[in-house]
Order: sequence, then C-alpha cells, then structure tokens
Amino acid sequence: MESTDFLIVGAGIVGLAVANELRRRHPKANIVVLEKETEVGCHASGRNSGVLHSGIYYSPGTLKAKFCAEGARRMLAFAKENGVAHRVAGKVILAVGPEDLPGLERLEQNAKANGIRAVRLSAQTLMEIEPHATPGEAIHCLDTAVVDAPAVVQALAEKVELSGTRFFFGEEVIEAEETAVITRSGRKLKFEKMINCAGAHADKVARLFGLAKDHILVPFKGLYWKLRNGADHWVRESIYPVPDLNFPFLGIHLTRGVGGDVYVGPTAIPAFGRENYGLLEGITPGESAQIMGRLTKMYFQKDPTFRRLVNREMGHYVKTGFLKAVQRLVPALSVEDLVPSNKVGIRPQLVRRTGELEMDFHMEQTDNSLHVLNAISPAFTCSLAFAEKIVDEVERQGGEVKEEVKVA
Ligand SMILES: Cc1cc2nc3c(=O)[nH]c(=O)nc-3n(C[C@H](O)[C@H](O)[C@H](O)COP(=O)(O)OP(=O)(O)OC[C@H]3O[C@@H](n4cnc5c(N)ncnc54)[C@H](O)[C@@H]3O)c2cc1C
Repeated sequence: MESTDFLIVGAGIVGLAVANELRRRHPKANIVVLEKETEVGCHASGRNSGVLHSGIYYSPGTLKAKFCAEGARRMLAFAKENGVAHRVAGKVILAVGPEDLPGLERLEQNAKANGIRAVRLSAQTLMEIEPHATPGEAIHCLDTAVVDAPAVVQALAEKVELSGTRFFFGEEVIEAEETAVITRSGRKLKFEKMINCAGAHADKVARLFGLAKDHILVPFKGLYWKLRNGADHWVRESIYPVPDLNFPFLGIHLTRGVGGDVYVGPTAIPAFGRENYGLLEGITPGESAQIMGRLTKMYFQKDPTFRRLVNREMGHYVKTGFLKAVQRLVPALSVEDLVPSNKVGIRPQLVRRTGELEMDFHMEQTDNSLHVLNAISPAFTCSLAFAEKIVDEVERQGGEVKEEVKVA
C-alpha cells in the first residue's frame, strides 16, 4: 500500500494553496494531491469571476474578513511574479435607491473595521468614475483587482509540482478508513494527515470520516453573459450592487476581465447537481432528489429570506429578467448588448440541517484529518492566506477526535 505524510484531496485553489504552504513548512515531506479530474482547476477555481475582493463585505471577526485583504495582496503578488494577467482598477458598489443606503453604511463600517481603503462617492463623483452608472451614492473600493483565475491555478500547480509534491489525477476518493483513503480505481493511500479540499464534494468526503453530520452542500449555479463588442464602453471597470448581506452572494455585477471583456453575472440560481453546469449535465437521480428535497424544505420554511433569494434568482434564468437586474446598475444597456458567455460555475453553499446558510468558511476535524467544508467566495481571494490557518490547524491536531471544530 502506498503511503504519504500529507494527503490533499482536491486540486482546486484551496488544495493547491495548502500543498504550497505544507511544502514551505515541510521541505522534505511526502505530499500527495489526489484529484478526480484529469487536470487542476476544473470546477469553481477555474470558473469564477477572478476578482480579488478587498474584504469590504465581511463582518469583522469572520474568517473571510481575516484572510481576504491579505489573501488578495498575496494572490496579486503571485500573479505578478508568475506572469499571470491581472488588472488593478478598483470597483464601484452602487446604491441605486434609498433602500440600499443602510447596506452601503454597513459596508463602510466593515471597511473601517477591516482596514480597507474605501471612498464614499456622491452621485456627482460617481459620474467621473463610471459615467453610465445609475446616479446614486456609491463606494469606490480602490484595491479590488482581477486576475486570470485559471492561469493562477495553473501557475500554482506548477510551483507545487516543481517542489516535489506528487499529483494523482483521475482518482476520486470514495471510501475512507481512519488513516487511508480508497479511490474509485481501487487505489489505496495511507496518510499521516489528510486535508479535504474537495470543494462541492467536501461534505461527502467528510462524511466518509463520520463528519459533516449537520450540514449538506447545496449547489447554486452562476451563469454569466458578456457585453457585446462595441457595448463595453458602458462600463469602465467594475460595477456591483449593494448586496443583501443575509446571503453569501454579491448580486449580478459587471466586471471587466483581464482581457478587457466585460462579464455580467453571476446568477445564484439553485442547481440540481454539484456539477450541473448545463441544463441536464451533472444531474444524478439520487443526489438531485436529495438536493431538491433540501431546497424545497428551505423554500417553505417560516423565515422568508431564502424564498426571497430563490424568487429573485429564478427571474435571472430568462434574459429579460437578467437584463432588468443589470439595468438597475447601468440603465442604458439594451437586450442586444448582452451576448451569451460560455462561463458558468457552481457555488457549493453549506446549509445547516435547520435550513440556515453557513455564512463563513467552516472546518471540521478528526485527529488526523481536516475538512474544509464551505470554501465559498471569497475563498479564491483568501486561499494563500487561509492555507496558513488550515496548516496551523493540521499541525495542532492530535489526541482524541475533535468533531466539528469551528476555528475563528
Ligand atoms: C461563479 C463563481 C464566481 C466566483 N467568483 C469569485 C471571485 O470573483 N472571487 C473569489 O475570491 N471567489 C470567487 N468564487 C469562489 C471561488 O471560486 C471558490 O471559493 C474557490 O474556487 C473554491 O476552491 P476549492 O479549491 O475549494 O474548490 P474547487 O475549485 O471546486 O476544487 C475542488 C476540487 O476537488 C476535486 N474533488 C472533489 N471531490 C473529489 C474526490 N472525492 N476525490 C478527489 N478529488 C475531488 C474537484 O474535482 C475539484 O478539482 C466564485 C465561485 C463561482 C462558482
């Protein structure tokens, strides 16, 4: 039987960042990354907006707030060092009506508490930055950047591989023993420490270790449109709405990518499979029924918050509904200005049995395994800083089984 010191499940940005950090601390260790696909970054890490968030959205004291600004700084430095395309141009968060003003205030308070540069704009000063935006009060986040996310993932994977870490592709973990995992191909790998970074499947892997008993990951589909050539002058850089902070999603926004194209999205539409990128793709009967059951329960629960989200998001499935959401930010946009984009991602959101959404990153542990269960946005931004925390926890492990440890 093969054995390794550190076994990482999942070669998305979190798994790669953990592999990188482990190698930094343990130059001689035997480290293996197991990935079910044939290459790195096939899921969320290669399908996101590529925005390095400043950290303005996250309440002080959360893991997201703790790692966002530092993670963004490190990720940008990594992109620069490795010749990965990037764009540091800031973004505007726009209040389109008086109902958005309390949210804008709260973001300003977060910025102060988290030490983030954010400038309050009047309707007039907004026009100098984004002349076609709906006139209103806004915040200018000066440090927001955009990177070529798939290229970052690729560059980090190369760095990790060059450091001597081995990648085993096409190996899906489907069974586990206390100190070993077994893959679909029958490969058995023994480990000293295991770190589960399996993204949308992380709860399933955790359950193999008797964890994630009170949670399930529910997938939300992120569809994007693009502005057609000739219509991209409506946006200079990036325009975001004031989000409903009851949800972990930021609302449909416009982002100028590293190549100059403007992407519009993503939606947060409930999906029926963890990899349900197309209409029917990624739907498996048993699992989809389980997800649908969970969504239905959440939809009909007494608290109307989730119902509100679903009702709003279902409207984004049709182009006119989607357009309406974008026109709140840039009223002059027309239906012809939006052209299809092949970009689509799934955001796996951790939900408690009670139906509440887990809003922060969440980890559970045994004495020799750690499971990253809610690596939602901005986990891409945070990854290089968050990996330090994950490895700190792994190094602290030992003794009796510690179930459901929420590190803060
Ligand atoms: C539409 C969208 C937009 C987003 N925008 C942003 C943004 O602008 N900025 C930002 O910071 N974040 C953003 N995010 C969030 C960000 O992309 C994720 O938080 C991050 O990529 C999560 O990384 P991960 O490594 O945990 O997951 P993943 O990238 O999904 O990687 C998990 C890996 O585990 C593998 N795996 C799963 N199960 C197994 C198994 N059993 N055995 C072996 N391998 C397995 C998968 O194949 C996959 O490669 C966005 C996400 C989406 C979907």
